[in-house]
Amino acid sequence: MSQRFVDRRRFLLNTALVSAAGVLAEGVRHPAAAFSVYPMSPELKASYLAAKSCGTDQSTHDRITRTVLAKLNAMPAPPPGQSLSETVICPICGCPIVVSRTGS
Ligand SMILES: [Zn+2]
Repeated sequence: MSQRFVDRRRFLLNTALVSAAGVLAEGVRHPAAAFSVYPMSPELKASYLAAKSCGTDQSTHDRITRTVLAKLNAMPAPPPGQSLSETVICPICGCPIVVSRTGS
């Protein structure tokens, strides 16, 4: 009776060890992408810096963004996969505001 429990324990231990070895081997071959660091694109970096460094209330930037987006929407649509973008400097704080419209 006790031999049966030992066998079951041994089986579970061996299964756990084999599974852990498999996970470890896979982790060595393909490191987790969640811990990778990628550089920002220039457009994204400008938007990020503008959002983080500007002390102006966001409504001013939203108003500027809406105005520039209306201007971009009045232009002919860009080809699919391309975008129209325009960078405007905020007259209050000097932060760049990047507005873009993608083609559909
Ligand atoms: Zn501003």
